[in-house]
Amino acid sequence: MREYAFELALCGAIEDEETLVARQLGAHVHGRRIIDVVAIDPGPAFDRRAAITEGTIPSAAIGAPVGPGTARRVRDVFPDRRPEQRRWIVDRAVAAGFFERERVDGDPAVRQVSRYPERWFDRLVGIENKPDLDRPGDLQAQLQTDVSLGLFDAVVLATASHVTGAHRNRLPEEVGIWRFDPESGDRAVLRESTPLETDSQGVEIIEQTPGTTDIRTVSPSEKSRARRRLAERAYGKGWRTFDYPGCEQCQPGAGSTETAPYCEWAGRIVDPASECGPDCAGFDAGDSPAVDLSAVRADRSSWRPDPEGRTRRQAGLDRYG
Ligand code: SF4
Repeated sequence: MREYAFELALCGAIEDEETLVARQLGAHVHGRRIIDVVAIDPGPAFDRRAAITEGTIPSAAIGAPVGPGTARRVRDVFPDRRPEQRRWIVDRAVAAGFFERERVDGDPAVRQVSRYPERWFDRLVGIENKPDLDRPGDLQAQLQTDVSLGLFDAVVLATASHVTGAHRNRLPEEVGIWRFDPESGDRAVLRESTPLETDSQGVEIIEQTPGTTDIRTVSPSEKSRARRRLAERAYGKGWRTFDYPGCEQCQPGAGSTETAPYCEWAGRIVDPASECGPDCAGFDAGDSPAVDLSAVRADRSSWRPDPEGRTRRQAGLDRYG
């Protein structure tokens, strides 16, 4: 079982009204750790967050010293940023419906449209996929990094393998273990994860070489910002990040998850970005499958496309366009 197909099948199996799912996201503060899957439990302010935008609100805009009350000059809000960086942040925050543009004595200024609802997410669970435990790669070091950093409330290893005592002993004891069957979607919890300390100082493993480990400590506030950034990216990105190929062989619905790009010719889920195109021996030019991935995500989870508040704001802007 290829890891890509395993990952899509797992994402489809765990997504529901109470669980937002995204894949392949940065889960670091100073280092470079990409986690396979993030599962988010919505918090009490979720509806307020969902009402702002279906996309990601830029982290720099959320942390900027500007509120909804009074507009501030852009150069005062981001004094340490270069002009092109300021423009980039403001453009994205305005597009997300989080900032509004104004003028203060003729200078470009911004204010928040609404206060950021910090408690929109509750638990963040990081899931590392390793369908075949006999080819573990960097698994142990990756999970050690996740546990000592404590960015996630819980960390889980998902595998299709039979898990032996030796496998368990090689993993940090805080890491939960799921056995997942991508064909049936069945999931068994072989070991519960231990909750991690997300509001205390963490230790991030930057690099490990034989004999040396390069680490950095991470303060609670750095962690809190990194968690928020991660949750925002997860909300905007989701897990259906593929584009269907223009190939008659691709038939979503026949695979283990309804929307995954299943290829009749290959007899499995394929990764369109790396496997599909005229160079593929089975390529049969045609229309891409007509599946509205946003509509499916909205139907399966609490993610909301094109929220009402945003639509109203856009309508208001159009009147002045
Ligand atoms: S391009 Fe090849 S791998 Fe992709 S859907 Fe078509 S036949 Fe399958």
